[in-house]
Amino acid sequence: MSIDLDAIRDNVAELVRRAAPAQVLAVVKADAYGHGLVDSARAALAGGASWLGVAQLAEALRLREAGVTAPLLTWLFAPGADIGGAIDADIEVTVGSMWSVDAVLAAARERGAPARIQVKVDTGLGRGGILTDWPQMVARLAAAHAEGAVEVTGVWSHFAWADAPQHPTVRAQQVRFEEACEELARAGVRPPLRHLANSAATLTNPSAHFDLVRPGLAVYGLSPVPDLGDSAHFGLREAMRVTARLSLVKRAAAGQGVSYGHEYVTDRDTVLGLVPMGYADGIPRAAGGAGPVLVGGRRLTIAGRVCMDQVVLDLGPDFAGAAGDEVVVLGRAADGEPSAQDWAQAAGTINYEIVTRMSPRLPRVLLGGPF
Ligand SMILES: *Cc1c(COP(=O)(O)O)cnc(C)c1O
Repeated sequence: MSIDLDAIRDNVAELVRRAAPAQVLAVVKADAYGHGLVDSARAALAGGASWLGVAQLAEALRLREAGVTAPLLTWLFAPGADIGGAIDADIEVTVGSMWSVDAVLAAARERGAPARIQVKVDTGLGRGGILTDWPQMVARLAAAHAEGAVEVTGVWSHFAWADAPQHPTVRAQQVRFEEACEELARAGVRPPLRHLANSAATLTNPSAHFDLVRPGLAVYGLSPVPDLGDSAHFGLREAMRVTARLSLVKRAAAGQGVSYGHEYVTDRDTVLGLVPMGYADGIPRAAGGAGPVLVGGRRLTIAGRVCMDQVVLDLGPDFAGAAGDEVVVLGRAADGEPSAQDWAQAAGTINYEIVTRMSPRLPRVLLGGPF
């Protein structure tokens, strides 16, 4: 696997340009969507991101341990999480539940210094954040703010249907978000950062940019709205490229069953090729008989089932190549290479899952940078 850090930098620069005057928080959760947490974070900062965001505290701490000093937001943890440790590491914690505001307050009092926090309101996604308890949260934050125990630096929410920009929930969530911000302001809490937009909303809905946007997928050059075309359409380019080399090339007669369960059977004398990459490497098993690869400039489909460590290709009777030839598994759509979206279609999933689940077992080569 290669990761083009220059592509990440350039994609963020494009997002910064589109978002201005709003700032950009580059989302680097889940090992930067499988691209490598620390190197991707540095490339995003080189592209002009003002903030970094991760779901989990452990990833935020990893960034700090690696010496990344940029403003950093985290938003998903359960009781027992080391919130004090996050505060000590200058990580902004999101309170999205009543228990977490109490935990933050306890940690802040222990330290005798105000904790910098952000608050998450559920404007309709029905996932994280405060939904019916919002009035209580506003009151609690107002009291904590007045006491000097917290500095509320941001208020934010997340869309349910940002990838369908015309969906009525998009407008409804924005309206609810503005109301929630006003309710906070009326209680005397005016966070300087209001944010709502993920990649899709950053690219398609400037009215949702507010003070900060939170793109993730687009940072890595993937399109969050495949219906509008591939990422090149937005001025982005894919950073992840996955290749392998044929480990075996052999003749097979017509009627040869291929791979477990013989779901593929050769319909003529042909040449089979073995690709040493399987579901343990991140090739979705659900893409058996459907996943696309490129060999010698030709698009082929995986023959039969995806195995743990390998897949088989029917290279055709006239195949003139040999073991060692390159197989492009994932690359740039604009170059005719199989895209994460192609794989998502083959496996019945979304492009996010394809890149995020590429295995750390794949040797990773960094291109561009270093930042
Ligand atoms: C993952 C995530 C994002 C980024 O979403 P994309 O669709 O990848 O741009 C933004 N905000 C939050 C809260 C997230 O969890």
